[in-house]
Amino acid sequence: MTFRNNLYAYRPLDLILRPRVVILMYHSIADNFRDPHAVRPDDFAAHMAAIASAGIPVIPLQSAVQNRYAGHAIVLTFDDAYRDFLHNAAPVLRKHGFPATVFAPTGLLGGRAVWDTYDTSKPLMDWDELTEVSRCGFTVGSHTVSHTRLTDCDSRQIHEELASSLDALLTRIPNAIRALSYPGGYCGQREMAAVKQAAYTCAVTVTSRLGNYSWTNPYALHRRKWR
Ligand SMILES: [Zn+2]
Repeated sequence: MTFRNNLYAYRPLDLILRPRVVILMYHSIADNFRDPHAVRPDDFAAHMAAIASAGIPVIPLQSAVQNRYAGHAIVLTFDDAYRDFLHNAAPVLRKHGFPATVFAPTGLLGGRAVWDTYDTSKPLMDWDELTEVSRCGFTVGSHTVSHTRLTDCDSRQIHEELASSLDALLTRIPNAIRALSYPGGYCGQREMAAVKQAAYTCAVTVTSRLGNYSWTNPYALHRRKWR
């Protein structure tokens, strides 16, 4: 087993600042040696079992945002809408009754991770599969249309990436939420303002040592990997 069983051991600031909401970031759940972001299914199951036995509440992303990150809780997120979510993550989550949010690049569904640096062959869910995820009770947010770095886009392109993906999700997916995951985590003040303008309620970034508190910017929510 390759994971360390203590989510907080090296976060002394967080321990002082408790309570807070910790948002965990996952990508592919698969045995894929080519992808350093992939988490092995056995390790993922062990992570979820450790959370369950620790008794830390796992709450939906939208609840955390609506309650201004009150209390101590965990939120689970999965970027990229990999097909392996259905087979390797969803059954484990359902077993524990844990909610989760999947962030989908809406223009690439049914295809592969063409943007990826490590393994472009990873299949993404198609719309039917994403609908099935939603029917299982998981929420779905936007990962833009084309998984483009928003910081590389002009204002018109940013608006298109944000508005079109959200519109497609709200039209086609029953449990779609107005939440964004920035591709690659790339965002600045301009991108955050555009996300707010496009009527999203929150957006998540990539790895941070911090949890989320009442004063955290909802358009730059911190996430962490379980290392
Ligand atoms: Zn991504």
